[in-house]
Amino acid sequence: MSITCKVCGYNTLLAVKPLIDRLGWETRLQDVVPYLRCSSCKAKGQVTFQIVFVGSSGEAMLGAEKKNHPKATGIFDGNV
Ligand SMILES: [Zn+2]
Repeated sequence: MSITCKVCGYNTLLAVKPLIDRLGWETRLQDVVPYLRCSSCKAKGQVTFQIVFVGSSGEAMLGAEKKNHPKATGIFDGNV
C-alpha cells in the first residue's frame, strides 16, 4: 500500500501481505495506521494510506487462500 505522511508529504510503499502476516487478519489497517511513524519527519499517526496493487502476480490480492476468513473481505473497507 502507499503511505503518505500528512505532515511532510513523504510517500513510501509498504507491502501489505507481510504486514498481515505479522499482525494477523484480525487487525484492521485503521487500527495500525495510528502507530505508524513517518521515517522522514518522525510524525506518528499522521499518515494516510491507499491500497495499491504492485505487479501482475495477484500477490497484492491480500492472500486468496484466506478468502474464507469471515473478515477477510472487510479489512480494507475503511477510509482514513
Ligand atoms: Zn512526515
